[in-house]
Formats: sequence, structure tokens, C-alpha cells
Amino acid sequence: MSKINAPRGTADTLPQESWKWQAVERIARQAATLYHFGEIRTPIFEATELFARGVGEETDIVSKEMYTWEDRARAQSEKAQSLTLRPESTAGVVRAYIEHKLGETGQLQKLYYIGPQFRRERPQRGRYRQFWQIGAEVIGPQSSGAESPLRDAEVLEMLASLLNELGIRDWKLELNSVGSAEDRVRYNAALRDALQPVKHLLCEDNQRRADTNPLRVLDSKDEADQDLINALPKIADYLGPESGAHFAQVLAALDACEVPYNLNPRLVRGLDYYTRTTFEFTVTTGLGTQNALLGGGRYDGLSEMLGGPKAPGIGFAIGEDRLILTLQAQAEADSISTASPFTAAKLDAYIAPLGLAQNSAALALARDLRAAGLTVEVGDGTFKLRKSFDTADALARHIILLGEDEAATNILTVKTFATGEQKKVKRAKLAEALA
Ligand code: AMP
Repeated sequence: MSKINAPRGTADTLPQESWKWQAVERIARQAATLYHFGEIRTPIFEATELFARGVGEETDIVSKEMYTWEDRARAQSEKAQSLTLRPESTAGVVRAYIEHKLGETGQLQKLYYIGPQFRRERPQRGRYRQFWQIGAEVIGPQSSGAESPLRDAEVLEMLASLLNELGIRDWKLELNSVGSAEDRVRYNAALRDALQPVKHLLCEDNQRRADTNPLRVLDSKDEADQDLINALPKIADYLGPESGAHFAQVLAALDACEVPYNLNPRLVRGLDYYTRTTFEFTVTTGLGTQNALLGGGRYDGLSEMLGGPKAPGIGFAIGEDRLILTLQAQAEADSISTASPFTAAKLDAYIAPLGLAQNSAALALARDLRAAGLTVEVGDGTFKLRKSFDTADALARHIILLGEDEAATNILTVKTFATGEQKKVKRAKLAEALA
């Protein structure tokens, strides 16, 4: 029989890796709590139309990368419907905001999520077909202050602090404002005009973008096109007074919080819904060409595009796979495993029953120690002592030997690997001795 592998661009995360994901997620959840975000869980598939309208028909994501299928009706009362595995979560979160009338509370909504996303991309290091994002959205009616530049700066400061807390070094914040929807109409027109005479000199992809979505030309990494692209008009010259003032306040608040940034006029990002502040955090270690660790921006018109009320918002999505790759590459570069969240925790104890007859007693001892909050693994009485020691040394801080004598006297032999010290401990005092 031929064997079946995981689909291309997807991966299994085994326990020797998944603890890293747990460590990252724990720190991210803590940060979310500190900044007053609550978790939202939305479906991993949505109506295709949500992404067509929310992300934009002309984006690469919607035009080439979505996993879409016709979902057949199962009953007369149901209609067949086109569904899509979510390629990102902002559209789903805003859909939920509208569906649950969260705007009617009048309160600012600060929502975060952690979950898989799906895009049919060409897989390479840091780019997969199923990948994880840790993201957040700040959204609400205008009266809740959702449009305030304070919110943009808070989100950026939170990200800077989170990356520092995770131990990510040398990150760079690339920042731009793409203006209001009106500014963008004027800028798009200027770009189109500037692109017309030079369009034929660009690569095929950029020629297409010049017609369908000229902003996307700025995203292009095509080497040969760079000089022409750098000479195109800059969005900063097309910001209206309101967008200009908004952006200036974001920068002032970042300066006050001492968050460093690079202004990057070409950072427009691939999704249609962005307005005003857009940003990306990049890193130099570990990701190669896919050096964007996270991206985000303001999307003041998205709710209305999805048929909802006016609800300005700002959000981001961190590529969790890329976060892990970066931390791993850093730890390898340091050749030490002390980078804070990236040290595998050892078990408190490994219990070695000396002989099959002690297996039950070993399990009962493990039960007591676990109840006391200790992490414990139990060996097997068939193991030779050497094997028990080797296994225990790899897994745990202490080995507990449980032979006939120990069972009879309730005094156990405990060896601490870090010091090599071996001592006898009363069973009743064991939890204390191991902590
Ligand atoms: P986006 O939703 O495209 O703005 O992406 C936000 C972040 O998600 C990026 O900065 C990446 O870190 C991550 N990301 C996007 N696409 C992929 C992918 N195909 N594989 C892995 N990570 C991705």
C-alpha cells in the first residue's frame, strides 16, 4: 500500500516542537490580558463572499490562494453555498462584530485570536499552506475612540513589548500611512498615471497590477523593477490633512513610548481593506526572504464593506510559524538554550520501579506526586537500571528508585542529576524534596 503523507505545505507539530508553540502562546495570551484584550474564536471556514468583499477580489489571496468549495445542501431548508477556509482572520472577526452587534454596546472591542489560516501559496521556508497566526483587532463605533491614533500606537507598543518579551532580537518596525479611502483614490489615480508610460518595462505581474491594483506594484520584490518603482509618486504627498495629522500623532505617541520605527513609503500591504496606518515587523535572523514576522494596519471602512455599521479598527497578525523559526534560529546562533521561552522544561521526576512487582506501587507514587502538582513520568519494572538512569537523565531533574526495600520502608532513593547528589527521602516528604 502506498503511504499517505500530510498535504504539501502543511506540517505535524510533534511534542518536541509543540512545547515551543505553547510557550509562545502563553506569553502572547499574557500580553493580551495585560492590554485588556479578550479572546475571540471564529470558524475556520466562512462564506466565500466574506473574503471576496473584505479582503478584495484583486488581491493575490482571493484571486489565487483560497481553498474554496461548493458546500452542498443537506436538507431542503438549506441552500448550497460557496465556502472558503479562512486565509486570514480579520474579515471573520469583523463579521462576528457585525453579527453580534458588538458596536451597540458602545464599548471599544479589543479581541485577539490564535489559530490556523490557509493559503494555497508556493511552500518554502516560512511560507506554508496551513500556517498559524496570533492576531488582534481593536474595533468599535467612532464614539468609543476606535479611530484614535492612541489605539494605533498602543497596538504597536504592545507588539514591540511582546517581541521583546519573547526574546526576538533585532526586529524592525516598518511604518507607513496609506491615507483615508479618499486619499487612496487620489493616490491610485496618480500611480496609474505615473505607471502608464513605463508599464511596458515592468515584469508581467507588475503590468497586470498596474491595471488592476496599482498599489500592489509597490509591494513588488522584482529586482529589475525596483528603480522604476522607487521613482513612483509617494503616498505621503497625497495624504489629506486629517490623515497627515492622524499619522503625526501615532508617531508622537510611539516616540513617547520609545518604540523605534522606520518610515517606509512603499509599505502598502496586500490587502485591500487597509487605510491610514500600515505596518510590518521584520527580522534579520532565521526567515531568509520571508522576513516579515507580522503585519497589520487600520481598516476604517471594512465593517461598512461587509454591510455593517461604521466601525473603525486596527489590527495585526503575527505569523506564529515564523516567530518559532526566528526564535529557533536565534537559539542556534547563540548555541545556548537559555533564550527565555525557549528552554524545554524538564520533568520534576522519573520513577524507576526496580522489578515488575513494583509497577503498581510506582504508579500509585506517581499519582500522589502528580496530585501535589509535580510533573512525573513512570518507567517500567522490566527496564535495566542503566536504561532507567539514561531515560531519566534525558527527561527529568530527579530519578526516584522504587525497589522492594523502598516499598517496604516508604523511604525512597532520589538522585538529582544536576548535582549528582543521591539521598534517601521519606515518602511523605518527597513532594517537598523534589519541588
Ligand atoms: P498577512 O495576513 O498576509 O498580513 O500576514 C501576516 C503574517 O502572517 C505575515 O507577516 C507572516 O508572518 C504570516 N504569514 C502570512 N502568510 C503566511 C504563510 N503562507 N505561511 C506562513 N506565515 C504566513
